[in-house]
Amino acid sequence: MPPLSLDDKAALVTGAGFWHTHAAPGVPSLVMTDGPHGIRHTVGGGDEIGLGNSAPATCFPPATGLASSFNSDLVERVGRALGDEARAQGVSVLLGPGVNIKRSAICGRNFEYFSEDPLVSGELGAAWVRGLQSRGVGASLKHFAANNQETNRMTVSAEVDARTLREIYLPAFETIVKREQPWTVMCSYNRVNGVLASENHWLLTEVLREEWGFRGAVVSDWGAVDDRVAGIRAGLDLEMPGPVADSRTAIVAEATRSSAFAEQLDLSVDRLRGLAKLGAKERGPAIDEDAHHALARTAAHESMVLLRNADAILPLREGKPVAVIGQLARSPRFQGAGSSQVNATQVDPALDAIMLRTPVEFASGYALDDSGDAVALRAEAVALAKRADTVLLFVGLPDGKESEGYDRTDLDLPAAQLALVLDVVAVNPRTVVVLTNGGVVSLEPWHDKAAAILETWLLGQAGGGAVADVLFGAVAPSGRLAESIPFRLQDTPSYLNFPGDRDLVRYGEGVFVGYRYYETAQVPVRYPFGHGLTYTEFAYSDLVVAEDGTAATVTVTNTGPVAGQEVVQLYVAPPVTDIRRPERELRAFTKVALEPGASTRVEFALTDRAYAHWDVDADGWVVAGGDYAVQVCADAHTVLLSSVVSLEDSRPAVPLGLESRVREWLDHPVTGPLFRKAASSEEGGTSMVDMVGSMPMRRLLRFPGIPVSEKQLKVLLVAANNPVVRGVAGFFGRRR
Ligand code: BGC
Repeated sequence: MPPLSLDDKAALVTGAGFWHTHAAPGVPSLVMTDGPHGIRHTVGGGDEIGLGNSAPATCFPPATGLASSFNSDLVERVGRALGDEARAQGVSVLLGPGVNIKRSAICGRNFEYFSEDPLVSGELGAAWVRGLQSRGVGASLKHFAANNQETNRMTVSAEVDARTLREIYLPAFETIVKREQPWTVMCSYNRVNGVLASENHWLLTEVLREEWGFRGAVVSDWGAVDDRVAGIRAGLDLEMPGPVADSRTAIVAEATRSSAFAEQLDLSVDRLRGLAKLGAKERGPAIDEDAHHALARTAAHESMVLLRNADAILPLREGKPVAVIGQLARSPRFQGAGSSQVNATQVDPALDAIMLRTPVEFASGYALDDSGDAVALRAEAVALAKRADTVLLFVGLPDGKESEGYDRTDLDLPAAQLALVLDVVAVNPRTVVVLTNGGVVSLEPWHDKAAAILETWLLGQAGGGAVADVLFGAVAPSGRLAESIPFRLQDTPSYLNFPGDRDLVRYGEGVFVGYRYYETAQVPVRYPFGHGLTYTEFAYSDLVVAEDGTAATVTVTNTGPVAGQEVVQLYVAPPVTDIRRPERELRAFTKVALEPGASTRVEFALTDRAYAHWDVDADGWVVAGGDYAVQVCADAHTVLLSSVVSLEDSRPAVPLGLESRVREWLDHPVTGPLFRKAASSEEGGTSMVDMVGSMPMRRLLRFPGIPVSEKQLKVLLVAANNPVVRGVAGFFGRRR
């Protein structure tokens, strides 16, 4: 490897244009492009931002849809296809996946993120990275971290406590880094607890590298750098885009002044050399566009969630005339706006696909851009609905409603569409509502009047054909909600703290995000996380959980009339302890395909983490001793089978001391009996104990009239903390 000059090094750590890394002697330049659900390679490979101006590529369902598949194998296949397309276009790093948690239902970029649940985001994100990287193309895991809103995304500080970061906002990154070693991680724009992610040593070095063992390069989000020198110190290897003359000058000056800094710069340079080595590959062969379109259609099938199907109105019979209402059936919205926007190779409108199966009368009902006479469009559609046997009503959010760069302010459909839905369901009870939206929309107040509701999210370029397949039963729906659908925005856990006040957003709901909040606070939702119907039914039996909690097995049977896929969901409900925890948390899931009458035994492996919480005192993962319910659920709200495991406390025994609380002295096997005897001989002893239970013993001693001295207590402590003397194993370590 030829030696590099300081100038070369300073040049290497910032990009050469929008999408290229810098070349230096022995270090080839690489192309990085968005991502994530298709290749957005700007035509000519120039330095332009190139929104809407990229080479044609397959547009797969964005993460919001893919997540609803709950199908890691499928997501991995999509990852592989993306890898092949990237290789065919000479792209070395694809900028995704985005695994930020859907903290609020109205985050403008929710369409690009997987779930409100870290396990789903981590498992499916890992599958995506695995598939992509198996083709020799690197991922850029983004946006690290706590980038859960678009409002003020470049300046806002996400104020998140340590436990919430560890349990909710970091695990998806952690899983993917530990399991898949993405070539790059992209730091976010925002601050995390006051420190810019691009300058955050704790995040980029201590957690990412030292704790999780990340070996790749950290890349900035585009324009996330304020101070390049601080970035190098924190562990930010590559600033994008570039070149940035100020960064180079500052780096050269600092490296000349400080040898410690020069060493940190060398570390970043080495990582970028490593990245360039991984990425230096021949351009791949041209892709088979039809095969990738077919995969996009399969992915779309599994991305839809059948929310409601009253009187089994779905699937429809082919050949029976239907009314199709809604401009979205004709002009599909199949992806979100912003940096992820792909120039699709082809697009299937649902209207065309439905017409291939059955006679159709169509009315647009509304204009997506609010042009035209809304009243007349609606009247025409309602007249059609009145005379139709069955209505397929396509409504959803138009492009401008949700995008990178800003958040939504409500959960509502556009006013003209809402008015249309209300009028159509009023005149035709056989109305099937087909929704198109990146983030959740309100199903109120029309929900009960719609015969069926099919949530299609954003389905990618082959979504239209896939919708027709599901509506007419060629494929049974199998998606599940990766985010809860609330009744009202006011019910959502981050309502009072989203998007924060100016440049500060407090994650005040803590770990109680999504269903973790609704289930714990018993706030009803329209549809819980994990919900989704299909055209058959499944039954569960024989849940067996290993005594030590490390495995759970359950039998699933297709008891209905047709083949189908079931998402098997395993949750853990913790015991009540002094740490407030969610009612239950998803700890494992898988998807199984079963013919009618067929059964399968599903086995889940569980680790300590399935039971643990992040303990701020221990500064680590801890399993609190007690009884945990391992639950097989239909969704986050509906428990089907449950089995209890009793686990020991994993915290190291904490010796009793003068700082221990009076309650701890009372609960202790050695000191407890003595103290309880003394306490109960006092008049009103018990309530007195309740009152002072939380007082450190040392403070209690300062009160006048306490009939015991510090010296006497110290003698007791020797006996209490010496297992030989007291003849019992560590108090906190004993089995309950
Ligand atoms: C987005 C990233 C994207 C980058 C490059 C940024 O604005 O936040 O997700 O990869 O632009 O387009």
